[in-house]
Amino acid sequence: MVNKLEIFEKIEGLLPENSKVVDMVFEGANIVLYTKNVNFFLQGKEKIKEIVDVIKKRIDLRMDESMLLDVEKTKKYIEEITKDAEVTDIFFDPKRSIVVIESKKPGVVIGKNGDLTQKIREKTHWTPKIIRAPAVKSDVIKTIRKTLFKYSEFRRKFLDKVGRKIYSEWQRGRNYWVRLSALGGFREVGRSCLLLQTPKSNVLLDVGVNVASDDFDAYPYLQAPELKIKDIDAVIITHAHLDHIGLLPLLFKYGYDGPVYMTEPTRDIGVMLQLDYIDVAVREGKEPIYSSTEIKEMIKHIIPLNYGEVTDIAPDIRITLLNSGHVLGSSMVHLNIGDGFHNVLYTGDLKYGNTLLLDKAITTMQRLETLIIESTYGGSKDIQTPRQESIKKLVEVVNKTINRKGKVLIPVLGVGRAQEVMLILEEAIRFKKIPSIPIYIDGMVWDITAIHTAYPEFMNKNVRKQIFVNKVNPFLSPVFKRIGSAQERKQLVENKGPCVILATSGMLVGGPSVDYFFNLAEDKRNSIVFVNYQAEGSLGRKIQNGNKEVAVLYKGKKVPVKVNLDVYAIKGFSGHSSRNELLSFISHLKPKPRRVIINHGENSKCLDLASTIHKKFSVETSAPRVLDALRLR
Ligand code: ZN
Repeated sequence: MVNKLEIFEKIEGLLPENSKVVDMVFEGANIVLYTKNVNFFLQGKEKIKEIVDVIKKRIDLRMDESMLLDVEKTKKYIEEITKDAEVTDIFFDPKRSIVVIESKKPGVVIGKNGDLTQKIREKTHWTPKIIRAPAVKSDVIKTIRKTLFKYSEFRRKFLDKVGRKIYSEWQRGRNYWVRLSALGGFREVGRSCLLLQTPKSNVLLDVGVNVASDDFDAYPYLQAPELKIKDIDAVIITHAHLDHIGLLPLLFKYGYDGPVYMTEPTRDIGVMLQLDYIDVAVREGKEPIYSSTEIKEMIKHIIPLNYGEVTDIAPDIRITLLNSGHVLGSSMVHLNIGDGFHNVLYTGDLKYGNTLLLDKAITTMQRLETLIIESTYGGSKDIQTPRQESIKKLVEVVNKTINRKGKVLIPVLGVGRAQEVMLILEEAIRFKKIPSIPIYIDGMVWDITAIHTAYPEFMNKNVRKQIFVNKVNPFLSPVFKRIGSAQERKQLVENKGPCVILATSGMLVGGPSVDYFFNLAEDKRNSIVFVNYQAEGSLGRKIQNGNKEVAVLYKGKKVPVKVNLDVYAIKGFSGHSSRNELLSFISHLKPKPRRVIINHGENSKCLDLASTIHKKFSVETSAPRVLDALRLR
């Protein structure tokens, strides 16, 4: 054995005499044993479980590469026994003895009680890993999965290196401390970034960009004196919105080569939005701040986690991602620091309320001392319309518009609101609350919805039940029709009858929604419905404010357009908690935090929420500014 690390020695001592384990490596915080003994590989499960109980780390047992059945024969065998599973792809990762089977019906590949996977192990000695193929084709998912396989040898070495660092020597001395620096997204929205430090570790939480700014405040303070990029041990990303993940590839341009933790939907949607971010910059004639090379570098360094999976990310820090209810795959981060010395919960963007797509955020954890919570709608005037009322209103507007043979344009952000509105309309059509009209989904909204179909596990119980029990995936409903080209867009506005159109961008700043508005605005049979926040200065805000004529950037020229269509703004579909939901979240938290830090909100909202929480819950609160640092303990 080459590795003489203490933990490996301990495992070696616990292994049975003839186990023939020839190699032990780390895969991040997990440990993988490679054996040359077929019987031990197939029947060693109990023994491994005993060892796991002693060392309290996850262990995977695989066959040594030299003992695997050849790739072609294995492929043939798998295809044979998984005929009914709609297998879409089979990848081999020989350096890790893994065969990945991508299927539209993962449950069928696994078989009753894992029968089929066991058969594959017995016959081929490969370790099968089953992943879900998106029900709607997604190029981004395909590219990401291909990239991970292409770099499988790199991944093996990288994950081992990460593991060695996690298991390196550490003891909590008497002089141990925990410190937090606000690098972006404090008393403001956009460029979220936090640095958490202990005497042993440096961890970044979120690396966002403020897309609404071209100025010095677009990026977080990565040049803060306490941050050295080469000393970062791990990065954790809460969700795929650009104000949380948008600047991550830049870290790799600056030389970061460590791990990044996030859920798989966050990875896939995040990559999609980053590629779009570069595209938009190019289209606007600007030099993009990073390229697809850095995005690829980022993908190679991502370690995906599921909700509730407890993982060591440094010798003294253990994290768990928990559902935050905001968008698909969005997480809160729970950090157990210094072996229980201090526990922090960072909410990221938080929805403490059920939506059609997601469950509300989790409130129970083992320990908690410091809470870092967002405050987007934390001001005393931030009251949201109840969801049911908002849904009723939307259905009403759609019906009214169809009756006069008009079209309804709904400008949306690609992620979150779009899928929520799709579910609302699909349900309304299914229950005949609106007639069966086509709902056109333009460009990026379609691509991001396709990613949703690969991860039903991250959606709420209702949607999962529809997909798995009733076998009706609402996103695959025939009412949704894709619009993918300028030609189709032109045909749609000129020839097609009453319909609903969902298109980006949500504030009518760039994207196909602007073209649709340009073509639909002057016909008073049509309607436009805003379902998200319209920033000051955006075209959306001007229309929402009731301007009867606006200038629209169309094919590179500013053209005056008369606003004759009906204009509606329906609030209440937000993916953020209302002020009441934020307070309700804190009152349901178990255990209660001793200290609450407010971020991700305009100045007055942060201060307002901080003082309300202090009065209501008698806990210490603060609303740091960007570049402030706090000692947590
Ligand atoms: Zn967000």
